[in-house]
Amino acid sequence: MIYNVDKETLPREDMEALQLRRLKDLCERVYARVPFYKKKFDEAGITPADIRSLNDLQYLPFTEKQDLRNHYPYGMFAVPKENIVRLHASSGTTGRATVVGYTQRDLDIWAECIARSLMMAGATRRDIIHNAYGYGLFTGGLGVHFGAEKLGATVVPVSGGATRRQISLLKDFGPTVICCTPSYMIFLHETAREMGIDFRELPLKIGVFGAEPWTDEMRRDIEAKTGITAVNIYGLSEVMGPGVSMECHEAQCGMHIYEDHFLPEIIDPSNGKAMGPGETGELVFTTLTKEGIPLIRYRTKDLSSLNYTPCICGRSTVRMDRIKGRSDDMLIIRGVNVFPSQIESLLLETAGLTPHYQIIVRREGPLDTMEVQVEVDEKMFSDAIKNLQHRERELQKNIKEFLGVTASVKLVEPQSIERSVGKAKRVIDQRGE
Ligand code: ADP
Ligand code: ZN
Repeated sequence: MIYNVDKETLPREDMEALQLRRLKDLCERVYARVPFYKKKFDEAGITPADIRSLNDLQYLPFTEKQDLRNHYPYGMFAVPKENIVRLHASSGTTGRATVVGYTQRDLDIWAECIARSLMMAGATRRDIIHNAYGYGLFTGGLGVHFGAEKLGATVVPVSGGATRRQISLLKDFGPTVICCTPSYMIFLHETAREMGIDFRELPLKIGVFGAEPWTDEMRRDIEAKTGITAVNIYGLSEVMGPGVSMECHEAQCGMHIYEDHFLPEIIDPSNGKAMGPGETGELVFTTLTKEGIPLIRYRTKDLSSLNYTPCICGRSTVRMDRIKGRSDDMLIIRGVNVFPSQIESLLLETAGLTPHYQIIVRREGPLDTMEVQVEVDEKMFSDAIKNLQHRERELQKNIKEFLGVTASVKLVEPQSIERSVGKAKRVIDQRGE
């Protein structure tokens, strides 16, 4: 089922006409109300009246996270402060947090984007939704919450943490949908097992996972362990929060972007030049309708590609590929670029290894070294030492063969890597210390 049939199945021409109308309006608004943009437009020698086609987007300035930091906290807001009804902040994964503000209309649109997303995952108003994204300044919890209510579903606002209690609630309340980070889902499953509860016997049927990079191998692992359908949701606080794009359960192949609100581009991060459909580069969004903190060409640092081919679900909106990583997360080990997600894919293909892992980067003399620590499962752990060593060598060989980098692999005992209730920390960089 499609929540907003009109907008989600709009023919491309009509979508582009709508986007252009909204883009012109956006340029007028930021030029008149945000000194940062007035200055940027003036420096580039353009005025809002110069925007005559979507192609003119390329002449507009980029916005970066640093710009938000430089104008902390309210300098980028485009409405009087009394029109802001809520503040959120990014989780600060990569440095100082950034603050975002929403008008009531922004919140209404956000709730609709989440309602669209939940329906895209296969949920309806008859579902009970266990929302284990963190409530608070982080956009995950409250974002999903109001969207679930807009859909008319029953939302259980559990937030993250108190993991054993969550398992009891999953059993007692019988939710059919769960929303959390994929790494937390694995933790929940593990805790349930310790408590003697089999996820496959719970009524749960859909998982809406996002807020951190994960792989298709991780999806298959979660689906096999829990018997649910796992779909990917994407978003970032600067652009709105979760629900900028969402994967449909029919195809499970790329996330449909709500293009009537967020205009996507893919650029080459080294020079800012546009890249074509299917090419992987940095994802950039222009917020077409946002009032509180509208952004022009916001550089997400997330790497993805765009796919305009029709989808079997009937939606006409463009799909973005699963995030390969943040350009900030990319490790350069002796000149070779590696993303944690690539390591994750390889380790999940190795028998006896679990998705609990950490990558430790150190500097030894002039050289960077990478160690991959992975927990083995109970069965593997009780195996002979020589089998463990064999697995270590196997993963090490695959990393070398597929990624071209030498890593030392260390298998560690079950439960030795710290669990996270929100975004998992995959990389420990000890080079600066
Ligand atoms: P922070 O930048 O501090 O982590 P946010 O909470 O706004 O703040 O996080 C947004 C970021 O989370 C995105 O830019 C992206 O890197 C990551 N992210 C969100 N959803 C996904 C997803 N489905 N897959 C991969 N990464 C995601
Ligand atoms: Zn689809």
